[in-house]
Formats: sequence, structure tokens, C-alpha cells
Amino acid sequence: RAKHDGRGIYRYFEAEMGAKVRERRLLENDLRHAISRNQLRLVYQPQIDIKSGEVTGFEALVRWEHPVNGPIPPSDFIPIAEESGLILQIGEWVMRKACTDAASWKNQLSIAVNVSAVQMHNTGLPDMIMQTLSQTGLSPARLEIEITETALVRDMNRAIHTLRQIKAMGVRVAMDDFGTGYSSLANLRAFSFDKIKIDRSFIKSVDSNEQSAAIVRAVLGLGAGLNLPVVAEGIERIEELDFLRGETCTEAQGFLLSRPADIATFFAVTSGEVRALPASELPPRALK
Ligand code: C2E
Ligand code: MG
Ligand code: MG
Ligand code: MG
Repeated sequence: RAKHDGRGIYRYFEAEMGAKVRERRLLENDLRHAISRNQLRLVYQPQIDIKSGEVTGFEALVRWEHPVNGPIPPSDFIPIAEESGLILQIGEWVMRKACTDAASWKNQLSIAVNVSAVQMHNTGLPDMIMQTLSQTGLSPARLEIEITETALVRDMNRAIHTLRQIKAMGVRVAMDDFGTGYSSLANLRAFSFDKIKIDRSFIKSVDSNEQSAAIVRAVLGLGAGLNLPVVAEGIERIEELDFLRGETCTEAQGFLLSRPADIATFFAVTSGEVRALPASELPPRALK
């Protein structure tokens, strides 16, 4: 009887797994056509200077509007794109769109673009960035790429080499989701990052959780000691922002300040000139 149950459970898992694999394959197939069918778009989230409240730049975040299933978040399709290799095409599309958009703004605001692990280990990445900059006319000084630690670990030497080439162009490199990786401190030194982005998990309840507060203070001290700007990610409550204002945090990003939205949302047109709205005038949080 036990034997019988075992096989039943096995069959159940087999069927369940089969369904997951099929679903994934279908999604992967749809993703293959997402660019040519115009289903990808970028939303932007402002990064705010914590002292002045001014917008210093935007992070570009990709969105996929699936024709049947509706919007699919990047956490669901970026892993599929990475496994299938489609991330190279998608990453190139994102880079081109973000640089084209930023080059059209009548200001010098920076643009941050997320670069995935698979892109980091592709030898063509520095050339792709170089070509995109020259074709869009965007100054390299305005481009920042965001990389998580997991993007670095697979082949450290290759990653160091790639990042050196990118930095040599004048493009800045930020360490994204800082603190969630395996060896943040060693990586910080080995890769000479230009910016640290503290992961949202440490910012959440930083005002009331003493452990979070101690960790955030330590990272801010690290940034100050290394002379690196530190961005706090995912600020949702005014108490969190107030805590960070009292520390040496340089920039803030989060739903409290603004949700990611269509770029037009963030610009005011005054006498033909387009300028970024100050944080106090950013559109309300309802946008997504
Ligand atoms: P990330 O680069 O760490 O981006 C921050 C994520 O946190 C974004 O989610 C953003 O919408 C969300 N966020 C910002 N403020 C808040 C807040 O106050 N509260 C909460 N709960 N969330 C907040 P999103 O857009 O869903 O992107 C998730 C991740 O997907 C990104 O994390 C990034 O790793 C990846 N991703 C997004 N766009 C791209 C892209 O163009 N290329 C690549 N390779 N990865 C991307
Ligand atoms: Mg990011
Ligand atoms: Mg992040
Ligand atoms: Mg993240």
C-alpha cells in the first residue's frame, strides 16, 4: 500500500512538473516575440538627493505586456530570459531605449540601467554599451549600470575585466541589492564600484528594527569611508526616510517618493523646456 501511495505521489509531482515546464516553455516562446511585437516598455523611478529633494536621475525598469496574461513582472520573466539567452536581446533593447530616452531630455540627469548576470558574462557587453552610447549620443557620464553580486560570482576575473572596460568609457557602476549577496565587502573592494544601493530588506522598518538600523548605519559608514554615494532602495514610509535623513545617506528611491511610471509623468514643460519635477511635486503614489 505504501508502494502504491509512493507511485501516486510521484505521478502527481510528474504531472505538476510537466505543467510548470509547459507553461514556462509557452512563456519563453512568447518572450521570443516580445520585442518585435512591441510588448516591452520601460518605466522609470526617480532617484532623489536626500538633502535637497531634487531628482538626480532615474532607474529604468522593464515591463512586459503579455497579450493574453496581461502585465508580467520582471521577477517572472527575467529568469526565463536569462535561462534561454533571450536576455541578451532584451538587455540590448533596454539599453538602447533608456539611452535614447535620456539623450532626448533637456537636462543632465543620469539614467541607471540594470544589467543581468548573463549579460555580465557575455564578452560583447562593453561593445554593446559603447555602440549604444555613440548611436544615441548620450554622454557616458550620464549612464550608470546596476549589477547585483550574483552577476559577479560565476567568473570573477572575467567580470573584473568587463567592468574595467565599462568604467574606462566613463560609465559608472552601482552595486544593486547590497547586503543580500555572499561576500559584499570583498566584492566592493575587488570591483571598485561607484555607488552602493542598500537593499530594500534592510530599509524596511529601519526606524523600528534595531538590527536593520545597525546594518544600515554600518553600510552608510562604509560608503562614507570609501567616499561612495549610498542609495537607499524601497523607501515606503516617512519614518524610514526620516531615519535616513538623520544619517549620511545620499540618495533615496522608493514608493514613498514615487512609484516607477511612464517617463512623461516626471517632466514639466515650461516655455518649451523640459525639466524634472522636484520631489515635492512628484505625482502621487498611485501610479505604477
Ligand atoms: P531592482 O533593480 O533592485 O529594482 C528595484 C525594484 O524594487 C523594482 O521592481 C521597483 O519597482 C521596486 N521598488 C522600488 N521602490 C519600492 C518600494 O518602495 N517598495 C517596494 N515594495 N518595491 C519597490 P521591479 O520593477 O519589479 O524589478 C524587479 C527586479 O527586476 C529589479 O530589481 C531588477 O533586478 C530586475 N529588472 C528590472 N528591470 C530590469 C531590466 O531592464 N534588466 C534586467 N536585467 N533586470 C531588470
Ligand atoms: Mg536596480
Ligand atoms: Mg535593487
Ligand atoms: Mg532587486
